[in-house]
Amino acid sequence: MPPDGFYRYAVGVGGNLGNVPATLARAADLLTADGMVTISARAPLIETAAVGGPAQQPAFSNGAWLVSTRLGPHQLLHRLQNIESACGRVRTVRWGPRTCDLDLLLREDGLIVASPVLTVPHPRLCERAFVLEPLAAIAGAWRHPLAHATVAELAGKIRK
Ligand code: ATP
Ligand code: CA
Ligand code: CA
Repeated sequence: MPPDGFYRYAVGVGGNLGNVPATLARAADLLTADGMVTISARAPLIETAAVGGPAQQPAFSNGAWLVSTRLGPHQLLHRLQNIESACGRVRTVRWGPRTCDLDLLLREDGLIVASPVLTVPHPRLCERAFVLEPLAAIAGAWRHPLAHATVAELAGKIRK
């Protein structure tokens, strides 16, 4: 537990259906509505062509938020999943189109989780420029506990 009792998490946010900036603004309102979670930084959204999943789906907008909360990782995941549903996400095919995707990427203190429903750091973080780029804008100095590199270093590597 950090000295002030609050953990800091990085959340990857994105979508490719509907008005993604408006949906993510609503998701942020829902996430912070009861005061249990605050958002301390938001990276600007970047747009990238969809990779994987069904062909010819719309381009994705991706960003990242830093959040402070006393919630544990599973509690935070549960809250993120409820917000995805509230924002109209319907789960169909894997990596298919969606209004809103909220992924738990990393915790500042280097927490590692490997449970049936949650893996932290996010298992595909290191290979995804569309996640690392926005994250580097707000958490470049955070360390990936398994890759033994900072987010800025990982983003730099993938850019090459
Ligand atoms: P990807 O995980 O490759 O980004 P996705 O975001 O499209 O794909 P989802 O369908 O949103 O995948 O989630 C599938 C499952 O992943 C969820 O039901 C959840 O239990 C699990 N999961 C495991 N680790 C995480 C994590 N760090 N953040 C979010 N979901 C996770
Ligand atoms: Ca995702
Ligand atoms: Ca997800």
